[in-house]
Amino acid sequence: MHGSSRRKVKIVGTLGPSSNTQPQIEALIRAGLDTARLNFSHGTHDMHRQVFASVREASKAAGKYVAVLQDLQGPKLRVGKLGPEGIVLKAGDEVLLYPEGTTPKSSTTGRIALPISAEIAGPLSKDVRKGSKILFDDGKIFSEVKSASPPEMVIEIQIGGKLTSNKGMNLPGTPLSLPACTDKDLKDLKLGLELGVDAVALSFVRYPKDVTFVKEQIRKTSNHKPLIVSKIEREEAVYTPEGILEVSDGFMIARGDMAVELGAEKVPKIQKMLIRMCNELGVPVITATQMLESMISSPTPTRAEASDVANAVFDGTDAVMLSAESASGQYPINAVITMSQIIMEAETATDRYSVHQPLTPISGSVVESIEYSASKIAGHVGARAIACLTHSGMAARTLAKYRPEIPIVAIMDSEASLRKLAFVWGIEGVLIPELVSTDDLFGMVSKVLVDNNRADEDDIVVVTAGTPTLGRGTTNTIKVHQVKVPVSRS
Ligand code: PGA
Ligand code: MN
Repeated sequence: MHGSSRRKVKIVGTLGPSSNTQPQIEALIRAGLDTARLNFSHGTHDMHRQVFASVREASKAAGKYVAVLQDLQGPKLRVGKLGPEGIVLKAGDEVLLYPEGTTPKSSTTGRIALPISAEIAGPLSKDVRKGSKILFDDGKIFSEVKSASPPEMVIEIQIGGKLTSNKGMNLPGTPLSLPACTDKDLKDLKLGLELGVDAVALSFVRYPKDVTFVKEQIRKTSNHKPLIVSKIEREEAVYTPEGILEVSDGFMIARGDMAVELGAEKVPKIQKMLIRMCNELGVPVITATQMLESMISSPTPTRAEASDVANAVFDGTDAVMLSAESASGQYPINAVITMSQIIMEAETATDRYSVHQPLTPISGSVVESIEYSASKIAGHVGARAIACLTHSGMAARTLAKYRPEIPIVAIMDSEASLRKLAFVWGIEGVLIPELVSTDDLFGMVSKVLVDNNRADEDDIVVVTAGTPTLGRGTTNTIKVHQVKVPVSRS
Protein backbone atom coordinates (compact mmCIF):
# COMPACT_ATOMS: atom_id res chain seq x y z
CA MET A 1 0.00 0.00 0.00
CA HIS A 2 1.10 3.58 -0.58
CA GLY A 3 1.88 5.98 2.20
CA SER A 4 -1.67 7.21 2.26
CA SER A 5 -3.20 4.13 3.87
CA ARG A 6 -4.33 4.70 7.46
CA ARG A 7 -4.10 8.46 7.04
CA LYS A 8 -7.21 10.61 7.36
CA VAL A 9 -6.02 14.10 6.46
CA LYS A 10 -5.21 14.45 2.75
CA ILE A 11 -2.22 16.01 1.05
CA VAL A 12 -2.50 18.57 -1.75
CA GLY A 13 0.80 19.14 -3.55
CA THR A 14 1.59 21.86 -6.07
CA LEU A 15 3.38 20.62 -9.19
CA GLY A 16 6.15 22.66 -10.77
CA PRO A 17 9.66 22.42 -12.21
CA SER A 18 10.78 20.09 -9.37
CA SER A 19 7.89 17.67 -9.81
CA ASN A 20 6.41 18.03 -13.29
CA THR A 21 7.36 14.85 -15.08
CA GLN A 22 5.28 11.71 -15.05
CA PRO A 23 7.84 9.63 -13.07
CA GLN A 24 8.19 12.46 -10.52
CA ILE A 25 4.41 12.72 -10.17
CA GLU A 26 4.08 8.97 -9.77
CA ALA A 27 6.73 9.06 -7.03
CA LEU A 28 4.82 11.85 -5.26
CA ILE A 29 1.60 9.84 -5.44
CA ARG A 30 3.32 6.77 -4.03
CA ALA A 31 4.72 8.98 -1.26
CA GLY A 32 1.17 10.03 -0.36
CA LEU A 33 0.00 12.85 -2.64
CA ASP A 34 -3.82 12.89 -2.88
CA THR A 35 -4.51 15.99 -4.96
CA ALA A 36 -2.25 17.64 -7.56
CA ARG A 37 -2.47 21.44 -7.73
CA LEU A 38 -1.71 23.17 -11.01
CA ASN A 39 -0.81 26.77 -10.24
CA PHE A 40 -2.03 29.01 -13.09
CA SER A 41 0.01 31.94 -11.78
CA HIS A 42 2.85 30.24 -13.64
CA GLY A 43 3.34 28.27 -16.82
CA THR A 44 1.90 28.08 -20.31
CA HIS A 45 -1.21 26.26 -21.48
CA ASP A 46 0.92 23.73 -23.31
CA MET A 47 2.80 22.96 -20.14
CA HIS A 48 -0.37 22.62 -18.05
CA ARG A 49 -1.89 20.35 -20.70
CA GLN A 50 1.10 18.08 -20.51
CA VAL A 51 1.26 18.04 -16.71
CA PHE A 52 -2.46 17.30 -16.53
CA ALA A 53 -2.02 14.27 -18.79
CA SER A 54 0.96 13.14 -16.73
CA VAL A 55 -1.07 13.30 -13.50
CA ARG A 56 -3.78 11.11 -15.02
CA GLU A 57 -1.20 8.61 -16.31
CA ALA A 58 0.75 8.55 -13.05
CA SER A 59 -2.45 8.06 -11.02
CA LYS A 60 -3.36 5.10 -13.16
CA ALA A 61 0.10 3.60 -12.73
CA ALA A 62 -0.02 4.10 -8.96
CA GLY A 63 -3.60 2.83 -8.69
CA LYS A 64 -4.92 5.89 -6.88
CA TYR A 65 -7.70 8.36 -7.73
CA VAL A 66 -5.78 11.61 -7.55
CA ALA A 67 -7.69 14.84 -8.15
CA VAL A 68 -6.39 17.76 -10.21
CA LEU A 69 -7.00 21.16 -8.65
CA GLN A 70 -6.67 24.05 -11.08
CA ASP A 71 -5.70 27.15 -9.12
CA LEU A 72 -6.61 30.36 -10.97
CA GLN A 73 -4.44 33.40 -10.35
CA GLY A 74 -7.33 35.82 -9.84
CA PRO A 75 -6.79 39.59 -9.60
CA LYS A 76 -3.28 39.25 -8.22
CA LEU A 77 -1.51 42.60 -8.33
CA ARG A 78 1.95 42.46 -9.81
CA VAL A 79 4.92 44.62 -10.55
CA GLY A 80 5.93 44.67 -14.23
CA LYS A 81 9.28 43.78 -15.84
CA LEU A 82 12.22 45.48 -14.13
CA GLY A 83 15.32 44.28 -15.93
CA PRO A 84 17.70 41.59 -14.69
CA GLU A 85 18.96 43.50 -11.63
CA GLY A 86 15.60 44.71 -10.35
CA ILE A 87 15.59 48.00 -8.42
CA VAL A 88 16.60 48.92 -4.91
CA LEU A 89 14.01 50.97 -3.03
CA LYS A 90 15.03 52.93 0.06
CA ALA A 91 12.96 54.49 2.81
CA GLY A 92 11.94 57.99 1.75
CA ASP A 93 12.17 57.30 -2.00
CA GLU A 94 9.35 58.72 -4.10
CA VAL A 95 8.20 56.21 -6.69
CA LEU A 96 5.88 56.70 -9.65
CA LEU A 97 3.74 53.65 -10.44
CA TYR A 98 2.59 53.63 -14.08
CA PRO A 99 1.03 51.07 -16.46
CA GLU A 100 3.64 48.79 -18.00
CA GLY A 101 4.15 49.50 -21.72
CA THR A 102 3.23 53.20 -21.49
CA THR A 103 5.38 56.33 -21.11
CA PRO A 104 4.77 58.02 -17.73
CA LYS A 105 2.63 61.17 -18.05
CA SER A 106 3.54 62.48 -14.61
CA SER A 107 6.95 63.94 -13.97
CA THR A 108 9.63 61.44 -12.98
CA THR A 109 12.13 64.06 -11.84
CA GLY A 110 13.43 62.96 -8.44
CA ARG A 111 11.33 59.84 -8.63
CA ILE A 112 11.86 56.21 -9.49
CA ALA A 113 9.60 55.05 -12.31
CA LEU A 114 8.14 51.62 -11.53
CA PRO A 115 5.91 49.82 -14.06
CA ILE A 116 3.01 47.76 -12.72
CA SER A 117 0.83 45.41 -14.77
CA ALA A 118 -1.24 47.51 -17.17
CA GLU A 119 -4.70 46.01 -16.43
CA ILE A 120 -4.51 46.89 -12.76
CA ALA A 121 -3.01 50.39 -12.87
CA GLY A 122 -6.24 52.16 -13.89
CA PRO A 123 -8.63 50.71 -11.29
CA LEU A 124 -5.95 50.70 -8.59
CA SER A 125 -5.12 54.39 -8.98
CA LYS A 126 -8.84 55.18 -8.61
CA ASP A 127 -9.33 52.96 -5.54
CA VAL A 128 -6.43 54.32 -3.48
CA ARG A 129 -6.42 57.43 -1.32
CA LYS A 130 -3.62 59.46 0.17
CA GLY A 131 -2.18 57.25 2.93
CA SER A 132 -3.32 53.91 1.42
CA LYS A 133 -0.76 51.20 2.09
CA ILE A 134 0.89 49.39 -0.82
CA LEU A 135 3.05 46.35 0.00
CA PHE A 136 5.44 44.60 -2.36
CA ASP A 137 6.97 41.12 -2.44
CA ASP A 138 4.92 39.36 0.25
CA GLY A 139 4.84 42.47 2.41
CA LYS A 140 8.63 42.83 2.59
CA ILE A 141 8.59 46.32 1.07
CA PHE A 142 6.16 48.83 2.52
CA SER A 143 4.91 52.12 1.08
CA GLU A 144 2.15 54.73 1.33
CA VAL A 145 0.29 56.52 -1.43
CA LYS A 146 1.02 60.25 -1.67
CA SER A 147 -1.13 61.15 -4.66
CA ALA A 148 -2.88 59.60 -7.63
CA SER A 149 -3.67 60.85 -11.11
CA PRO A 150 -5.17 57.79 -12.82
CA PRO A 151 -3.77 55.61 -14.20
CA GLU A 152 -0.63 56.70 -12.31
CA MET A 153 0.18 56.99 -8.62
CA VAL A 154 3.01 58.36 -6.49
CA ILE A 155 4.05 56.39 -3.41
CA GLU A 156 6.63 56.95 -0.70
CA ILE A 157 8.70 53.99 0.48
CA GLN A 158 8.57 53.41 4.25
CA ILE A 159 10.48 50.12 4.45
CA GLY A 160 12.78 49.48 1.52
CA GLY A 161 14.33 46.49 -0.13
CA LYS A 162 15.28 45.04 -3.47
CA LEU A 163 12.38 44.56 -5.87
CA THR A 164 12.54 42.26 -8.88
CA SER A 165 10.22 41.63 -11.84
CA ASN A 166 6.67 40.30 -11.40
CA LYS A 167 6.67 40.40 -7.61
CA GLY A 168 3.25 40.57 -5.93
CA MET A 169 1.62 43.69 -4.53
CA ASN A 170 -0.99 43.87 -1.76
CA LEU A 171 -3.22 46.74 -0.66
CA PRO A 172 -4.42 45.83 2.82
CA GLY A 173 -7.45 47.84 3.85
CA THR A 174 -8.26 49.18 0.37
CA PRO A 175 -11.42 47.72 -1.21
CA LEU A 176 -10.52 47.09 -4.84
CA SER A 177 -12.85 47.48 -7.78
CA LEU A 178 -10.95 44.94 -9.91
CA PRO A 179 -13.03 42.09 -11.32
CA ALA A 180 -12.68 38.88 -9.27
CA CYS A 181 -12.22 36.88 -12.44
CA THR A 182 -9.78 38.38 -14.94
CA ASP A 183 -9.58 37.76 -18.70
CA LYS A 184 -6.61 35.50 -18.02
CA ASP A 185 -8.67 33.51 -15.49
CA LEU A 186 -11.46 33.02 -18.05
CA LYS A 187 -8.98 31.74 -20.64
CA ASP A 188 -7.37 29.46 -18.06
CA LEU A 189 -10.76 28.22 -16.88
CA LYS A 190 -11.66 27.34 -20.46
CA LEU A 191 -8.57 25.15 -20.65
CA GLY A 192 -9.39 23.57 -17.28
CA LEU A 193 -12.89 22.69 -18.42
CA GLU A 194 -11.56 21.27 -21.67
CA LEU A 195 -9.06 19.10 -19.78
CA GLY A 196 -11.65 18.10 -17.20
CA VAL A 197 -10.00 19.27 -13.99
CA ASP A 198 -11.71 17.95 -10.85
CA ALA A 199 -11.73 21.23 -8.96
CA VAL A 200 -11.06 24.90 -9.60
CA ALA A 201 -9.68 27.21 -6.91
CA LEU A 202 -10.58 30.91 -7.10
CA SER A 203 -8.04 33.38 -5.70
CA PHE A 204 -8.94 36.56 -3.78
CA VAL A 205 -12.66 35.77 -3.49
CA ARG A 206 -14.42 38.64 -1.74
CA TYR A 207 -18.15 38.06 -2.09
CA PRO A 208 -20.52 35.16 -2.90
CA LYS A 209 -21.09 36.73 -6.31
CA ASP A 210 -17.43 36.17 -7.22
CA VAL A 211 -18.14 32.43 -6.90
CA THR A 212 -21.57 32.35 -8.50
CA PHE A 213 -20.21 34.32 -11.47
CA VAL A 214 -17.69 31.57 -12.19
CA LYS A 215 -20.27 28.82 -11.64
CA GLU A 216 -22.59 30.55 -14.10
CA GLN A 217 -19.74 30.92 -16.57
CA ILE A 218 -19.05 27.19 -16.32
CA ARG A 219 -22.72 26.27 -16.68
CA LYS A 220 -23.03 28.38 -19.82
CA THR A 221 -19.97 27.03 -21.57
CA SER A 222 -19.44 23.41 -20.52
CA ASN A 223 -21.05 20.17 -19.41
CA HIS A 224 -18.14 19.54 -17.09
CA LYS A 225 -18.77 20.42 -13.44
CA PRO A 226 -15.62 20.83 -11.36
CA LEU A 227 -15.85 21.58 -7.65
CA ILE A 228 -15.30 25.25 -6.82
CA VAL A 229 -12.86 25.98 -4.00
CA SER A 230 -12.81 29.54 -2.67
CA LYS A 231 -9.44 30.78 -1.48
CA ILE A 232 -9.90 32.89 1.62
CA GLU A 233 -7.14 35.49 1.65
CA ARG A 234 -8.87 38.90 1.40
CA GLU A 235 -10.17 40.86 4.33
CA GLU A 236 -13.72 40.99 2.94
CA ALA A 237 -13.88 37.19 2.76
CA VAL A 238 -12.29 36.62 6.17
CA TYR A 239 -14.84 38.78 7.91
CA THR A 240 -17.95 37.50 6.10
CA PRO A 241 -17.20 33.95 5.00
CA GLU A 242 -20.71 32.54 5.61
CA GLY A 243 -22.25 33.60 2.30
CA ILE A 244 -19.17 32.47 0.36
CA LEU A 245 -19.25 29.10 2.10
CA GLU A 246 -22.87 28.59 1.07
CA VAL A 247 -21.97 28.75 -2.63
CA SER A 248 -18.58 27.00 -2.46
CA ASP A 249 -17.71 23.29 -2.62
CA GLY A 250 -14.56 23.83 -0.57
CA PHE A 251 -12.42 26.45 1.13
CA MET A 252 -8.70 27.02 1.01
CA ILE A 253 -7.16 28.92 3.90
CA ALA A 254 -4.64 30.84 1.78
CA ARG A 255 -2.34 31.94 4.57
CA GLY A 256 0.26 33.52 2.28
CA ASP A 257 -1.72 36.48 1.00
CA MET A 258 -3.91 36.44 4.11
CA ALA A 259 -0.87 37.25 6.26
CA VAL A 260 0.12 40.15 4.02
CA GLU A 261 -3.42 41.52 3.91
CA LEU A 262 -4.26 41.12 7.60
CA GLY A 263 -1.03 40.53 9.49
CA ALA A 264 0.54 37.14 10.24
CA GLU A 265 -0.59 37.33 13.88
CA LYS A 266 -4.24 37.08 12.79
CA VAL A 267 -3.75 33.88 10.76
CA PRO A 268 -3.92 31.18 13.51
CA LYS A 269 -7.21 32.47 14.88
CA ILE A 270 -8.72 32.83 11.41
CA GLN A 271 -7.53 29.31 10.51
CA LYS A 272 -9.33 27.84 13.51
CA MET A 273 -12.47 29.87 12.85
CA LEU A 274 -12.67 28.87 9.18
CA ILE A 275 -11.93 25.18 9.82
CA ARG A 276 -14.62 24.96 12.47
CA MET A 277 -17.14 26.67 10.20
CA CYS A 278 -16.35 24.28 7.31
CA ASN A 279 -16.44 21.23 9.60
CA GLU A 280 -19.89 22.12 10.86
CA LEU A 281 -21.28 22.29 7.33
CA GLY A 282 -19.27 19.33 6.03
CA VAL A 283 -17.47 21.49 3.45
CA PRO A 284 -13.89 20.30 2.79
CA VAL A 285 -11.18 22.75 3.84
CA ILE A 286 -7.53 22.89 2.76
CA THR A 287 -4.93 24.58 4.98
CA ALA A 288 -2.27 26.11 2.75
CA THR A 289 1.08 27.89 2.51
CA GLN A 290 4.44 27.61 4.25
CA MET A 291 3.49 24.42 6.08
CA LEU A 292 6.96 22.95 5.47
CA GLU A 293 8.57 26.07 3.98
CA SER A 294 12.13 25.29 5.12
CA MET A 295 11.98 22.00 3.20
CA ILE A 296 12.30 24.00 -0.02
CA SER A 297 16.03 23.80 0.70
CA SER A 298 16.37 21.44 3.66
CA PRO A 299 15.68 17.70 3.89
CA THR A 300 14.04 18.03 7.31
CA PRO A 301 11.37 20.41 8.64
CA THR A 302 11.71 22.86 11.50
CA ARG A 303 10.00 21.97 14.78
CA ALA A 304 7.62 24.86 14.25
CA GLU A 305 6.62 23.45 10.85
CA ALA A 306 6.01 19.97 12.26
CA SER A 307 3.81 21.62 14.88
CA ASP A 308 2.00 23.65 12.24
CA VAL A 309 1.02 20.57 10.23
CA ALA A 310 0.01 18.64 13.36
CA ASN A 311 -2.03 21.56 14.68
CA ALA A 312 -3.93 21.86 11.41
CA VAL A 313 -4.81 18.18 11.90
CA PHE A 314 -6.00 18.88 15.45
CA ASP A 315 -7.98 21.88 14.17
CA GLY A 316 -9.93 19.49 11.94
CA THR A 317 -8.63 20.38 8.48
CA ASP A 318 -9.53 18.02 5.62
CA ALA A 319 -6.27 18.56 3.79
CA VAL A 320 -2.90 20.29 4.09
CA MET A 321 -1.06 21.79 1.14
CA LEU A 322 2.47 22.07 -0.19
CA SER A 323 3.35 25.00 -2.49
CA ALA A 324 6.98 25.68 -3.40
CA GLU A 325 8.01 22.72 -1.20
CA SER A 326 6.73 20.32 -3.88
CA ALA A 327 6.71 22.64 -6.92
CA SER A 328 10.18 24.14 -6.98
CA GLY A 329 12.01 22.92 -3.87
CA GLN A 330 14.91 20.52 -3.63
CA TYR A 331 13.03 17.80 -1.71
CA PRO A 332 9.53 17.41 -3.14
CA ILE A 333 9.16 13.72 -2.29
CA ASN A 334 10.67 14.15 1.13
CA ALA A 335 8.21 16.96 1.78
CA VAL A 336 5.23 14.70 0.99
CA ILE A 337 6.63 11.84 3.09
CA THR A 338 7.37 14.20 5.99
CA MET A 339 3.90 15.70 5.82
CA SER A 340 2.35 12.23 5.76
CA GLN A 341 4.37 11.12 8.79
CA ILE A 342 3.47 14.23 10.80
CA ILE A 343 -0.22 13.75 9.96
CA MET A 344 -0.24 10.07 10.93
CA GLU A 345 1.52 10.74 14.21
CA ALA A 346 -0.89 13.57 15.05
CA GLU A 347 -3.83 11.33 14.19
CA THR A 348 -2.83 8.84 16.87
CA ALA A 349 -3.70 11.58 19.37
CA THR A 350 -6.71 13.34 17.86
CA ASP A 351 -8.97 11.77 20.51
CA ARG A 352 -7.07 13.78 23.13
CA TYR A 353 -6.08 16.96 21.34
CA SER A 354 -8.56 17.57 18.55
CA VAL A 355 -10.53 20.77 18.84
CA HIS A 356 -13.10 19.35 16.43
CA GLN A 357 -16.54 19.66 17.98
CA PRO A 358 -18.80 16.59 18.09
CA LEU A 359 -21.69 17.31 15.72
CA THR A 360 -25.30 16.22 15.73
CA PRO A 361 -27.14 15.60 12.46
CA ILE A 362 -29.18 18.32 10.78
CA SER A 363 -32.72 17.42 11.73
CA GLY A 364 -34.95 16.09 9.00
CA SER A 365 -32.15 14.90 6.71
CA VAL A 366 -32.18 11.12 6.18
CA VAL A 367 -28.62 10.89 4.87
CA GLU A 368 -27.36 12.95 7.83
CA SER A 369 -29.07 10.76 10.38
CA ILE A 370 -28.00 7.53 8.64
CA GLU A 371 -24.33 8.52 8.41
CA TYR A 372 -24.25 9.99 11.92
CA SER A 373 -25.73 6.74 13.26
CA ALA A 374 -23.35 4.63 11.17
CA SER A 375 -20.39 6.39 12.77
CA LYS A 376 -21.80 5.72 16.26
CA ILE A 377 -22.70 2.08 15.54
CA ALA A 378 -19.27 1.43 14.03
CA GLY A 379 -17.68 2.59 17.28
CA HIS A 380 -19.99 0.44 19.44
CA VAL A 381 -19.46 -2.78 17.50
CA GLY A 382 -15.74 -2.28 16.84
CA ALA A 383 -16.16 -2.35 13.07
CA ARG A 384 -13.15 -2.55 10.76
CA ALA A 385 -14.51 -0.01 8.27
CA ILE A 386 -17.63 1.81 7.17
CA ALA A 387 -18.54 1.17 3.55
CA CYS A 388 -20.72 3.76 1.82
CA LEU A 389 -22.37 2.71 -1.43
CA THR A 390 -22.79 6.07 -3.08
CA HIS A 391 -23.17 7.46 -6.61
CA SER A 392 -22.22 11.09 -6.05
CA GLY A 393 -20.10 10.60 -2.93
CA MET A 394 -22.47 12.71 -0.85
CA ALA A 395 -23.12 9.92 1.69
CA ALA A 396 -19.38 9.43 2.26
CA ARG A 397 -18.81 13.18 2.60
CA THR A 398 -21.64 13.35 5.11
CA LEU A 399 -20.14 10.48 7.09
CA ALA A 400 -16.76 12.26 7.11
CA LYS A 401 -18.40 15.15 9.01
CA TYR A 402 -18.74 12.84 12.00
CA ARG A 403 -15.03 11.95 11.91
CA PRO A 404 -15.24 8.17 12.53
CA GLU A 405 -11.97 6.63 13.72
CA ILE A 406 -12.07 3.74 11.25
CA PRO A 407 -11.69 4.02 7.45
CA ILE A 408 -14.55 5.36 5.35
CA VAL A 409 -14.62 3.29 2.18
CA ALA A 410 -16.64 4.97 -0.56
CA ILE A 411 -17.71 2.30 -3.05
CA MET A 412 -18.58 4.11 -6.27
CA ASP A 413 -18.95 3.52 -9.98
CA SER A 414 -17.81 6.90 -11.27
CA GLU A 415 -14.13 7.70 -11.30
CA ALA A 416 -14.86 11.40 -11.76
CA SER A 417 -17.05 11.48 -8.63
CA LEU A 418 -14.49 9.48 -6.73
CA ARG A 419 -11.69 11.92 -7.53
CA LYS A 420 -13.80 14.72 -6.10
CA LEU A 421 -13.35 13.11 -2.68
CA ALA A 422 -9.54 13.30 -2.92
CA PHE A 423 -9.27 16.25 -0.55
CA VAL A 424 -12.00 15.18 1.86
CA TRP A 425 -10.99 13.92 5.30
CA GLY A 426 -10.83 10.17 5.81
CA ILE A 427 -12.40 8.90 2.59
CA GLU A 428 -10.78 6.02 0.72
CA GLY A 429 -12.38 5.42 -2.65
CA VAL A 430 -12.95 2.07 -4.34
CA LEU A 431 -14.11 2.05 -7.94
CA ILE A 432 -16.41 -0.74 -9.13
CA PRO A 433 -17.76 -1.22 -12.67
CA GLU A 434 -21.39 -0.60 -11.83
CA LEU A 435 -23.26 0.27 -8.66
CA VAL A 436 -26.52 -1.59 -9.14
CA SER A 437 -28.77 -3.60 -6.90
CA THR A 438 -28.06 -7.34 -6.82
CA ASP A 439 -29.67 -10.30 -5.02
CA ASP A 440 -26.61 -10.57 -2.86
CA LEU A 441 -25.77 -6.92 -2.27
CA PHE A 442 -23.82 -7.51 0.94
CA GLY A 443 -21.94 -10.43 -0.60
CA MET A 444 -20.83 -7.98 -3.28
CA VAL A 445 -19.72 -5.48 -0.61
CA SER A 446 -17.76 -8.24 1.19
CA LYS A 447 -15.98 -9.16 -2.00
CA VAL A 448 -15.12 -5.55 -2.88
CA LEU A 449 -13.72 -4.91 0.60
CA VAL A 450 -11.63 -8.09 0.65
CA ASP A 451 -10.41 -7.69 -2.94
CA ASN A 452 -9.26 -4.15 -2.14
CA ASN A 453 -7.60 -4.99 1.20
CA ARG A 454 -10.13 -2.93 3.13
CA ALA A 455 -11.35 -5.89 5.25
CA ASP A 456 -10.78 -9.63 5.82
CA GLU A 457 -13.19 -12.53 5.92
CA ASP A 458 -15.27 -12.52 9.16
CA ASP A 459 -14.51 -8.85 9.99
CA ILE A 460 -17.42 -6.76 11.14
CA VAL A 461 -18.11 -3.74 8.93
CA VAL A 462 -20.89 -1.18 8.80
CA VAL A 463 -22.50 -0.60 5.41
CA THR A 464 -24.72 2.31 4.36
CA ALA A 465 -26.69 2.26 1.12
CA GLY A 466 -29.93 3.20 -0.55
CA THR A 467 -31.94 0.00 -0.79
CA PRO A 468 -33.55 -1.64 -2.64
CA THR A 469 -32.54 0.14 -5.86
CA LEU A 470 -29.26 1.92 -5.01
CA GLY A 471 -30.68 4.93 -6.84
CA ARG A 472 -29.25 8.42 -6.54
CA GLY A 473 -29.80 10.24 -3.26
CA THR A 474 -31.56 7.28 -1.65
CA THR A 475 -29.32 6.45 1.35
CA ASN A 476 -31.71 4.88 3.85
CA THR A 477 -30.06 1.71 5.18
CA ILE A 478 -27.45 0.79 7.78
CA LYS A 479 -26.31 -2.80 8.11
CA VAL A 480 -23.85 -4.25 10.59
CA HIS A 481 -22.35 -6.89 8.40
CA GLN A 482 -19.93 -9.75 8.86
CA VAL A 483 -17.68 -10.04 5.84
CA LYS A 484 -18.32 -13.32 3.98
CA VAL A 485 -17.04 -13.55 0.47
CA PRO A 486 -19.58 -15.52 -1.57
CA VAL A 487 -18.25 -18.75 -3.06
CA SER A 488 -18.18 -18.27 -6.79
CA ARG A 489 -20.42 -20.73 -8.58
CA SER A 490 -18.76 -20.58 -11.94
P1 PGA B 1 -1.16 31.45 -3.78
O1 PGA B 1 -2.33 31.16 -2.75
O2 PGA B 1 -0.03 30.55 -3.44
O3 PGA B 1 -1.79 31.16 -5.08
O4 PGA B 1 -0.89 32.90 -3.57
C1 PGA B 1 -2.10 30.68 -1.46
C2 PGA B 1 -1.85 31.78 -0.45
O5 PGA B 1 -1.98 32.96 -0.75
O6 PGA B 1 -1.57 31.38 0.68
MN1 MN C 1 -2.72 33.74 -2.58
